[in-house]
Amino acid sequence: MYRFSRAIYRELESEILEDHPLQSGATNHERVLRACEAAIHRLATDMHYFARPTKTLFNDIRIYFPMSSQRRVYCVVDRYLKLAREFLINQPATGFDLEGNRLECRATTRRGTACQRVPLPHNGYCPSHQHLAETEEVLAAA
Ligand SMILES: [Zn+2]
Repeated sequence: MYRFSRAIYRELESEILEDHPLQSGATNHERVLRACEAAIHRLATDMHYFARPTKTLFNDIRIYFPMSSQRRVYCVVDRYLKLAREFLINQPATGFDLEGNRLECRATTRRGTACQRVPLPHNGYCPSHQHLAETEEVLAAA
């Protein structure tokens, strides 16, 4: 999974601004790589609640790039996060995420407890709760 964050980093590393001479702690290169990894990790483990991955990662790393690179940074981030998302939703539904955490349907049952069936990767709902995903799409489009 982290091949996606490494790919973002590799495409952009030559444009990362030099560290400020008084800066302490992590270098700009480390900060960019960590931010990319964090975004991929969140996408892999919490995709359905990660509303705007491109915007989030772009906002996290844009300060480490010059003005002239901003547009390219945005496009690279967007391209690889879309590929990562596509990769994730095409994984077979094993009931576990890539870190081995058990996945559960996002719906709540009529009794008010969490539905524990295995969700489908593309929207996080089990087959009996697919109608909730459709409602969500309608709301998002409105
Ligand atoms: Zn369900």
